[in-house]
Amino acid sequence: MKTIDIVVPCYNEEEVLNNFYEVTKSWCDKIEGYDFSFILVDDGSRDRTVCIMRELAAAHPEVRYISFSRNFGKEAAMYAGLSNSTGDYVIVMDADLQHPPSMFPDFIAGIEEGHDCVAAKRTSRKGEAKIRSFLSRRFYKVSNRMSDVKLEYGAVDYRIMTRRMVDSILRLSEVQRFSKGIFTWVGYDTKWIPYENVERELGTSKWNLRSLLRYAIDGITSFSTAPLRFVSAMGFFICFAAFLYLIFIVIKTLLGYNDVAGFPTIICLILFLGGIIEFSIGILGEYIARIYMESKHRPIYIARESNIPGMEGVSLPKNSTKETEPEDKTERPE
Ligand code: UDP
Ligand code: MG
Repeated sequence: MKTIDIVVPCYNEEEVLNNFYEVTKSWCDKIEGYDFSFILVDDGSRDRTVCIMRELAAAHPEVRYISFSRNFGKEAAMYAGLSNSTGDYVIVMDADLQHPPSMFPDFIAGIEEGHDCVAAKRTSRKGEAKIRSFLSRRFYKVSNRMSDVKLEYGAVDYRIMTRRMVDSILRLSEVQRFSKGIFTWVGYDTKWIPYENVERELGTSKWNLRSLLRYAIDGITSFSTAPLRFVSAMGFFICFAAFLYLIFIVIKTLLGYNDVAGFPTIICLILFLGGIIEFSIGILGEYIARIYMESKHRPIYIARESNIPGMEGVSLPKNSTKETEPEDKTERPE
């Protein structure tokens, strides 16, 4: 019998996790010939998420879980799930039931047709803030123009992959991960299955405009160096324009048309060039920051608890299902 691991990143999902398990499990039970298991990854939740995971793991042998020492982000949670998966196929999905498990049969059919990946693609963004949809569309346009790694518009992190594709993904060990790009970068053929957006029933989205902007910058800088080339090109054209202007002034002076007017021109040019220089340094800074972070070779995540035997430095669950000790609630400066 083939095995399928379901990797689920969870951050403050106490309201939905039990329901998620029930609904998803009932779909797994309907599918014959496959052995499903869950890898729930608690991304440093501050609510009872990890307690629920312990309870689920105690009650159901097919549930494995990993709990992070703090919030490392969804990308790190997916990585942890994938790197601890052992199944022939791996499904990645959200905990909030926005990724309908009713697509499992189509996923499995697709993979049995010989695709290495079958992924869900939203056809609508119903229920989402207009500004978010608009910015998201812009992001895909800009990113696809700049990078050779073409992202599929509407793609979500809900997909099934074969073992060999998962192993390829794990070979990309960068700390600052942008999974949408990584999934595309590793290649293999992907079958896209469209679905209608489902609104989150309980809990709240963990993203805000600021974190989405950060995500977009990560996306572009991870897979494209076009902004750096753009900066060089811009510098070149400004120099060229300045040179033409210089010739113009020399000729004007030689012809005796030298007046002291032009104060506004100078101010405008200084401001314009100053702005461009700041902007360029900012772009360079983004890349240097990434080199700096990668050069530290920090682990992608740190787990503090798991029921997966053999995870290094990780404690096995206590038998109690009581709430974990209250965490230090002070916000860490970023
Ligand atoms: N998530 C996570 N770590 C984070 C933020 C989110 O593991 O720092 C998980 C979250 O629990 C959910 C999934 O990632 O299972 C998608 O998050 P969310 O529903 O907030 O995103 P949206 O659906 O609004 O894009
Ligand atoms: Mg969601």
